[in-house]
Amino acid sequence: MTNRDSRYDILFEPVQIGPKTTKNRFYQVPHCNGMGHRYPQAMAAMRGVKAEGGWGVVCTEECSIHPSSDLSPAPLMRLWDDNDLPVHELMVEKVHAHDALAGIQLVHNGFEVANYVSRQPSLAPCNIPTEAFPHVQARAMDKADIRDYRDWHVAAAKRAKKAGYDIIYTYAAHGTMTLLFQFLLSRYNQRADEYGGSLENRVRLVREVLEDLKDAVGDSCAVAFRFAVDELLGSGGMQKSEAQDMVGLLAEIPDLWDVNVADWHNDSMPSRFGTEGGQEEYIDFVKQTTTKPVVGVGRFTSPDTMVSQIRRGVIDLIGAARPSIADPFLPNKIDRGAVDEIRECIGCNMCTSGDYLAYPMRCTQNPTMGEEWRRGWHPERISKAESDSTVLVVGGGPAGLEATLALSRRGYETTLSEAKGVLGGRVIRESSLAPLNEWRRVADHRNYMLSQAANVQTYTDSPLTAADVLDMGANHIAIATGSKWRTDFTGLQHQAPIPVSHPSSVVSPDRVLSGEKLSGEVMIYDDDHYYLASAIAEQLACDGMSVTLVTPAADIAEWTHHTLENEHIQVRLRELGVEIICKKEMVSIQQGFVTLGCIYMETPLELAADFVIPVTARDAEDQLYRDLTAMESDWADAGIQSITSIGDCFAPATIAMAVHGGHEYARHLDKSEEERAFFRRELDLGGE
Ligand code: ADP
Ligand code: SF4
Repeated sequence: MTNRDSRYDILFEPVQIGPKTTKNRFYQVPHCNGMGHRYPQAMAAMRGVKAEGGWGVVCTEECSIHPSSDLSPAPLMRLWDDNDLPVHELMVEKVHAHDALAGIQLVHNGFEVANYVSRQPSLAPCNIPTEAFPHVQARAMDKADIRDYRDWHVAAAKRAKKAGYDIIYTYAAHGTMTLLFQFLLSRYNQRADEYGGSLENRVRLVREVLEDLKDAVGDSCAVAFRFAVDELLGSGGMQKSEAQDMVGLLAEIPDLWDVNVADWHNDSMPSRFGTEGGQEEYIDFVKQTTTKPVVGVGRFTSPDTMVSQIRRGVIDLIGAARPSIADPFLPNKIDRGAVDEIRECIGCNMCTSGDYLAYPMRCTQNPTMGEEWRRGWHPERISKAESDSTVLVVGGGPAGLEATLALSRRGYETTLSEAKGVLGGRVIRESSLAPLNEWRRVADHRNYMLSQAANVQTYTDSPLTAADVLDMGANHIAIATGSKWRTDFTGLQHQAPIPVSHPSSVVSPDRVLSGEKLSGEVMIYDDDHYYLASAIAEQLACDGMSVTLVTPAADIAEWTHHTLENEHIQVRLRELGVEIICKKEMVSIQQGFVTLGCIYMETPLELAADFVIPVTARDAEDQLYRDLTAMESDWADAGIQSITSIGDCFAPATIAMAVHGGHEYARHLDKSEEERAFFRRELDLGGE
């Protein structure tokens, strides 16, 4: 039942899209998920939950139209022949079950793909190396190839219609990712025929495909066009001035314009580098150029921002990928007047790593993401407590907070005890760095929800000993006491400690995150390869310090390539004057200087450093857990049935894994061995 604020009524108005009408303005734009055709039931259930959560339109990820666009090993969707139909029919059924429209984004990826499985040559406007396999070149398409390409598109669209889709896209966005965009860009399209050269010529193929789709399926399906209006490369790439002319040439042909910026790292901008609604300045011209509805994205989680963009004529439909991943029930929460309950995306892009590494997507904020079918986890429903047992959670970091929240939703009387004065653990510490400010939402959301729960007692400034835990009289104990950074340089590169003849020069990341101020020359040694070392470097450089970032890897913050942060980090640190040294390992630390070595051969390099911050590896803070385990014979008398370590205390990992671990603990409490089973496998519909 709606109880919404009338200011948000506009978000729930229907919008006509060609022959279809969406019931509201909430539009889940196409997004990859690492499940696709390899984990079809998981993928379909995930889309279905979004439809249930109130999204008026729910789209697939990009869906390849032909084996010459084979995205393997990524498991993205395919419509190569009728054998692919059951996966799509399943997804459409799940989306239609909740009165939402189902959209599909057809694509040919041109030279972006290497066709590892199909072994077909890649295709491109001109002869050019493929992105994925540079020593294998794509074939310059001749007229027969172009005819085939158009026919494949039509065949795939007809299959999509047969599967029941309401909105059928063609796609020219995300930089070099699609053949149509490759034709639009003069730097890739050097053709001398009617498909190359002038703007009209480069747009020709898009026009032909859009008209083909309208002829083939336009009677009953809406035809959408996804187009990147700016690559943020200046005159070297697509930019607003040219995009305005292109939109002008095609303005009324598609039934819907879905517009964004390129490349993907600019489109799915991490919160570290961009704010909500940040694409407005690039896309705002589109609505003035066409009468057709326009959808745009911008990591929208605030209904006020959404309403503002609609009222000011920027967009008609609120496009969302990440906000719909972090909270599939975002529209329903606005509708029922529960805006404070929205689990807002933190912009960490853990979700995009699923696409890069071809595994089922995970989300830092939403532990049920990707687990809807595999484990039967619903983001808003959870099974009721199966006993009147009480639970004590020790440690209020992401694992402890999520465990407490999920336990309270199940109905368990739960006590949360935290040693520090605030709840949030590492999330509070890490988000004290300006680059990671928005990550605080992990703690804020859970703190708010816990403040509404009647069956939870939280205590801060309450460090517990094993004796305290026994005295508390709870039946089940979850130890979520986290981890601490090592200072002996043990990590991926050094499996054993290295010589530190001047220990006071070594400063643990935990001390920096607790607000300790340093002065002089600082060296950060990154053998963790994710975000933290670069975030500390950024913060200290902003604070005016002289910072050197050293890593044994070939590149700084290597894993952030999978979270679309890397290119931004590279630019930001260079702008701030951080000195970057790669492929060097730490050899020794003396007063005022360190000795580095090349990772391949012994060529020592001495560099001045007053302080070294090793971001290498962490130790679990599991002393309390070990103390309690040693006292197992006392448990029964204390009424204790189980003691379990969770989160970083169990195994130091990402925040997403800590949240997932806390959630899993709560879901599994009082469940049988069988019910705790790992996850369902897709042996019936899966496989290549
Ligand atoms: P995780 O990511 O697994 O949630 P964190 O390191 O973020 O781990 O959080 C662990 C939390 O546990 C920290 O806030 C820490 O202060 C708290 N903590 C550690 N030991 C105790 C203890 N003995 N009693 C209560 N809280 C503790
Ligand atoms: Fe947002 Fe991070 Fe979740 Fe992705 S993983 S949806 S960026 S919170």
